[in-house]
Amino acid sequence: MAQEDVFKKIVSHCKEYGFVFPSSEIYDGLGAVYDYGQLGVELKNNIKQYWWQSMTLLHENIVGIDSAIFMHPTIWKASGHVDAFNDPLIDNKDSKKRYRADVLIEDQLAKYDEKIEKEVAKGRKRFKEAFNEEEFRATNGRVLEIAAKRAALHERFATALNDSNLVELRQIILDEEIVCPISGTRNWTEVRQFNLMFKTEMGSTSEGASTIYLRPETAQGIFVNYLNVQKTGRMKIPFGIAQIGKAFRNEIVARQFIFRMREFEQMEMQFFVKPGTELEWFSQWKETRMAWHQALGFGAENYRFHDHEKLAHYANAASDVEFKMPFGFKEVEGIHSRTNFDLSQHAQFSGKKIEYFDPELNESYTPYVIETSIGVDRMFLSVMCHAYEEEKLEGGDSRVVLRLPAALAPVKLAIFPLVKKDGLPEKAHEIMNELRFHFKCAYEEKDSIGKRYRRHDAIGTPFCITVDHETLNDGCVTIRERDTMKQERVKIEDLRALIEDKVSITSLLKKLK
Ligand code: ATP
Repeated sequence: MAQEDVFKKIVSHCKEYGFVFPSSEIYDGLGAVYDYGQLGVELKNNIKQYWWQSMTLLHENIVGIDSAIFMHPTIWKASGHVDAFNDPLIDNKDSKKRYRADVLIEDQLAKYDEKIEKEVAKGRKRFKEAFNEEEFRATNGRVLEIAAKRAALHERFATALNDSNLVELRQIILDEEIVCPISGTRNWTEVRQFNLMFKTEMGSTSEGASTIYLRPETAQGIFVNYLNVQKTGRMKIPFGIAQIGKAFRNEIVARQFIFRMREFEQMEMQFFVKPGTELEWFSQWKETRMAWHQALGFGAENYRFHDHEKLAHYANAASDVEFKMPFGFKEVEGIHSRTNFDLSQHAQFSGKKIEYFDPELNESYTPYVIETSIGVDRMFLSVMCHAYEEEKLEGGDSRVVLRLPAALAPVKLAIFPLVKKDGLPEKAHEIMNELRFHFKCAYEEKDSIGKRYRRHDAIGTPFCITVDHETLNDGCVTIRERDTMKQERVKIEDLRALIEDKVSITSLLKKLK
């Protein structure tokens, strides 16, 4: 099946099973805004828990905060967002569709990568066992030709971005003969800068309302609380402040479902370090964050780092963690070395001294900052994309199964009485009433056991148990595991120990240390 079709199926699966709904759907939706349904919210909360606990439980020197979305408008002047939080936009005159000029070029770079991979696949097919991939990539004429074109484009693109050269960005689009995917034409407008912040008014106009912004990142809430936390928590550098919260960006193009939303959620951690040590911490955090992703077991080959073509105005190093989505490798998390830019700017704009007195050095300095910033929704999407599978079974049957990591699954255990009589529902409820204190359980008595299994496979429930007539005599139930579909008879009193460890967030956290 084409990857595009797989993605469409994932989107409709999310809706059909109550994971994600388009916002305001009965009014035909609102562009790039989504609601999480009854199962989606559980999965999302589990992702957040995994992140929060990995930060605040596993690191003694990281604490959390929850700052307000509304902040003093000068914060966004100081942070540079009012002047520089822009994306370059371009319109196709025929389709009237709007695009991000940088994304069109990034997609073109990805096309060169795809071409190279196709050549490599052809080579593999031709030379079979004798195929030496490394040598092929280094010597094959066609591969070298494409790689050279890609490198030249990359160089030109990076220069144009760094110089904010909008004319050159447009010229690249023309020279590369990039067409609008809708109209198929190259009839492009000029490239313009577009500020992504949403504005609103606070206070009534008669009192002199002021323009405030919906925060486009949660990070600034951490910076402006740096002194509060450092002092009241008696924090010693190096230390970190973590926060999970909503962020808002008036994205130019909002396609690809929850990959790019106008209202989304971020999990950000700012780690304050001694100046001069930041690049060491930067590589350490890259490693720590990659380990966090890979502990989910989605396969190391599905992740890669991507260094930024253009550094943001505040950064001296930046790298993204990319995950292989059905539409290619895409950013899920950004790791940035933000220097002392933000704290210095806030010191200047607020007139307050924002420094750290280092007792070991006996001197004060403005700390440098390493940021790890991950989108909850993008993480959710990557989990869904990896988990979704249409599996062919023996005997020509098939099933849709969500192979979610058990610790993230919305429901951990489904409990079925074999029939709706003979005291089996009562026994099933008795078991549920005991286990519901330890993990999320669901009870189902409708339809055949086979159909009930399929329903829970489709929402990723790792375990199902069936209570049958024998249960009333021997105190045992049949437990069935989602991925292997293996069934086993176990004692009711052993259920908790058997399941709890596998479905807890702790089981994931233990892989990190
Ligand atoms: P992109 O280049 O895709 O626009 P970005 O580099 O602007 O992303 P950051 O500012 O580094 O993103 O934000 C950190 C993280 O927040 C991203 O890695 C992503 O997971 C998430 N994020 C950013 N913008 C959005 C959005 N519009 N919708 C959902 N998640 C987002």
